[in-house]
Amino acid sequence: MIFVIAGHNERSQGALGYDGVYEHTRNVSLQRQVTLGLSSMSLSGTAMEVKTEDEDKSNAEVRDMIRRYAKPHSRGMDIHFNNNFPGATGTEVVISPYTSENNRRRAEWTARNLSLVMGIPVRRRADRDYIYPSETFVGRLPIIESTPIPMMLVEVCFQNDIDLPQYDEYRVSMVLRRAMLLEFEVMPPDIYFNDLNTQKHGKTI
Ligand SMILES: [Zn+2]
Repeated sequence: MIFVIAGHNERSQGALGYDGVYEHTRNVSLQRQVTLGLSSMSLSGTAMEVKTEDEDKSNAEVRDMIRRYAKPHSRGMDIHFNNNFPGATGTEVVISPYTSENNRRRAEWTARNLSLVMGIPVRRRADRDYIYPSETFVGRLPIIESTPIPMMLVEVCFQNDIDLPQYDEYRVSMVLRRAMLLEFEVMPPDIYFNDLNTQKHGKTI
């Protein structure tokens, strides 16, 4: 089971972008792009089901859903965009400090490739391309700390006039979709990206 969660909900829409779009609207739009076709792809020869959340689910209900439907080899992501802080730039991937080595590599791969497709930096901490909940503004993130599967929370970019012009939903969705399908035990993580760029633009950046 692959869980693709769009952060926030109808009642609590997250930060307002400089372009007037609320974070939740952007999260849902990207979530739909990520999940397009994802359920028809197979993982190690096994078809993976994709699970999203209802628009009106609370954070606790989303965690319950993940616990209820989790299976061996399940993994998931919670999609977010960062605040509209003036002058800030970069992408962040948050994981639990107790997560698997595999999930650390998935987080690293995701941060580096998001950085590449948008041309914005990875916001690194202590020589890491991923960060821990204790290093975020809120301090705790139950969606990745209190769920029984490898999860990552992605802050795609800042919703300000530096990062949003760099944001391309299609290209970002391709990175996130692949991140969910990667199996680092069987394939090295660095070989994917050139053909992804070629698909979209017919050339490598
Ligand atoms: Zn958010």
